[in-house]
Amino acid sequence: MARIVKKFGGTSVADVEKIQNVARRIKKEVDAGNQVAVVVSAMAGVTNQLVKYVDDINRLHDAREYDVVVASGEQVTSGLTALALQKLGVPARSWLGWQLPVHTDGVHGKARIADIDSEEIIRRMEQGEVAVVAGFQGIGPDGRVTTLGRGGSDTSAVALAAAIKADRCDIHTDVDGVYTTDPRIVPKARKLNKITYEEMLELASLGAKVLQTRSVELAMKYNVRTQVVSSFTDEPGTLVVNEDEIVEKEIISGIAYSRDEAKITLTGVADRPGVAAGIFGPLADASINVDMIVQNVSLDGKTTDMTFTVGKTDLERALLTVEAKKKDLGYSQVTSDPKVVKVSVIGVGMRSHAGIAQTMFTALAEKGINIQVISTSEIKVSVLIAEEYLELAVRALHDAYGLSGE
Ligand code: ADP
Ligand code: ASP
Ligand code: MG
Repeated sequence: MARIVKKFGGTSVADVEKIQNVARRIKKEVDAGNQVAVVVSAMAGVTNQLVKYVDDINRLHDAREYDVVVASGEQVTSGLTALALQKLGVPARSWLGWQLPVHTDGVHGKARIADIDSEEIIRRMEQGEVAVVAGFQGIGPDGRVTTLGRGGSDTSAVALAAAIKADRCDIHTDVDGVYTTDPRIVPKARKLNKITYEEMLELASLGAKVLQTRSVELAMKYNVRTQVVSSFTDEPGTLVVNEDEIVEKEIISGIAYSRDEAKITLTGVADRPGVAAGIFGPLADASINVDMIVQNVSLDGKTTDMTFTVGKTDLERALLTVEAKKKDLGYSQVTSDPKVVKVSVIGVGMRSHAGIAQTMFTALAEKGINIQVISTSEIKVSVLIAEEYLELAVRALHDAYGLSGE
């Protein structure tokens, strides 16, 4: 007997038929004698539609009300999944974030889970009842519904697995594992049997949607045995593991991309101490994450240009924030470009191999793709490029590093 958490993403619960398919998969685990808790996302496309409703009223919205609206998709699927299980004769009960409850901090729109009260569902699971938990949502210190950031149901699942001390957390999705890059862009991408927590963390944080970054952090911290598997087939998936569990390490494990980027450039910024703090302090205060940053050398010793990136959805607020500081900062002009994407190459082997970045720059140059900003860490190199080159760049890099494994 094992205790298992199974999470089903949006495409896996996209309609009633698919929910019934999910229920049959859950029943199999129950029939095998296991205790099962399920976490569900909203039906595919529903959360996007809910976000759009909010934006149509006000793009600079109140985050508390945003959460009330966008959390609703998971309420529907948790109830429907419980009903589908009951129809198959499996005792099941749905649980919303406030009911368990899933306690979070008060950062509405991207809240972090603090802890989950799981005594009651453990008691019921021990009696054979399946708990169907609405993913993506929790309850903040103010008693109001919070959401965990886009893709947050993965994090709900891993956090629940840690809380109930599950033997395993299965993340069921529309692909049968983690690939060397998004198989929708490179159909010959190769499935990885295992990937290290560290590499998965980079892949996720650099845009590979297959797992939300925070879910990987939690899996690593609480040692949750997490695997990515299909909702539709029984193919073995990808297990996320410690580095010492991988015998043959690859130099490059994958390529990720993110469309959620926007570039802001301030020209004629005074070249003196304190200017960077003056720009990025107010952005941090407004909870806007700044990612890549480049500052040009100043030719005249007096002024310089500063370019940085923020998430597309933060662009409007970021511009308002720097414009409000124009007097103090004394820059001459601000320009922005939302038509940019970030492409990154990831691999623990970079620590011990030289020339990885060069391969990337050459491959992009050969396709005539201009690099606008570069940033690196110990195990990744990222570049910012124009959005029309995204697919071309990902394919060229996948080939350049020989990732197809043919
Ligand atoms: P779900 O709704 O099940 O949470 P997501 O759309 O959030 O599913 O994540 C799965 C998607 O992630 C896949 O359909 C695939 O297009 C995308 N993806 C991006 N990078 C990768 C990768 N390296 N491996 C597998 N899938 C990836
Ligand atoms: N439904 C939410 C979203 O689309 C959460 C998730 O799917 O993980 O972001
Ligand atoms: Mg997802």
